[in-house]
Amino acid sequence: MSFSELKLHPSLLSNISSKGYETPTPIQVQAIPVLLKGKDLLGIAKTGSGKTASFVLPILQGLLTKPIVERNRQPKVLVLVPTRELAMQVTEVFKELSHNLRQPVKSMAVYGGVSINPQMKALFGVDILIATPGRLLDLQRSKAISLSKVETLVLDEADKMLNLGFHEEMQEIFDLLPKKRQNMLFSATLSDQLSGINRVLLVDPVLVQIEAKPDEEELINLSGYFVPDERKGPLLRHLIREMDMKQVLIFTSSGNKADKVAAKLMGNGIEALAIHGKKSQFARTMALDHFKSGKLPVLVTTDLMSRGIDINELPYVINYELPRSPKDFVHRVGRTGRSSTQGLAITFVTREETQHFKVILKKMKRYIDLIDSETMDFKP
Ligand code: ADP
Ligand code: MG
Repeated sequence: MSFSELKLHPSLLSNISSKGYETPTPIQVQAIPVLLKGKDLLGIAKTGSGKTASFVLPILQGLLTKPIVERNRQPKVLVLVPTRELAMQVTEVFKELSHNLRQPVKSMAVYGGVSINPQMKALFGVDILIATPGRLLDLQRSKAISLSKVETLVLDEADKMLNLGFHEEMQEIFDLLPKKRQNMLFSATLSDQLSGINRVLLVDPVLVQIEAKPDEEELINLSGYFVPDERKGPLLRHLIREMDMKQVLIFTSSGNKADKVAAKLMGNGIEALAIHGKKSQFARTMALDHFKSGKLPVLVTTDLMSRGIDINELPYVINYELPRSPKDFVHRVGRTGRSSTQGLAITFVTREETQHFKVILKKMKRYIDLIDSETMDFKP
């Protein structure tokens, strides 16, 4: 299957090839035709499998075929995402794929943590709005935006967006949207909530679920170490040096812990920054940009960075602490091994967590032997 067989507009095909995509990924092959027909869709495919373009392309094609009558503060497309960084990233994909279209399309990200006034001004003439829920509601309340003309709603990381944490905001947003619209839900971890979502959101939806083929090569290699808490720091430094890690994303369970781990690495001559919800947006954006571009070798974070963030060919992820939820584990390790590139995800496990780790692996249908850090020789 090729992109041209998906009957996409020539200008889109040219943007696709400028982006370096040669053939559509399985979720793109299956989701794009369904979405072009205007159907609701529940798209489930593993991390790094190209879910973004599978909604961006049909959305752009849809806008191209409908002439824009007037430009105002009424976006036709609303994409909701859980974090500011993901809003920026998804917007970038919309922009890259909408270069030089027959009819210009304006996509824009709005998110909290930065001043609202420039966003208010810039919203004029927006076609596609990519937003985190809180800031979207602020803009709506101050009449900088109206959601009454939204024809297409996308929930990226849909299970997260429909989680308790966003419940009230999402309900308020749904109430502002026209009843008749096309809905698209995407995530790597969605299946168990299917029935609830169907009832609330989707009308006669098509389910596209891409399962791994039995003979498919596993891109995310997993390994793990038994290590007591007090030995985690020395083990981390040992692994970074021993494996000569040039780019590694480290997950901890709190912002406070992320700061501590980063500071300790710095104290030991390993350049690292922490990024989490309590940092300023300026610091967050700067650290992630430096990390993505390869200038910063180590980024220590929380589950803030676990959803959707695409770092080109990131070779290593380390779970310094085990997440409570198996889903978070799936998303964390899914920052590596994306788009047909191999990666390694290392997990630190204390003795008390052995059972919990087994549960996580079982859910993922994976099995690994843990290495006992006590049998290893590294400095305290
Ligand atoms: P997901 O949302 O499924 O986790 P993304 O949409 O972030 O995955 O895509 C993962 C990576 O794969 C991105 O860097 C993206 O540019 C790339 N990608 C997407 N589609 C293709 C394709 N058809 N061919 C090659 N690379 C692709
Ligand atoms: Mg994604």
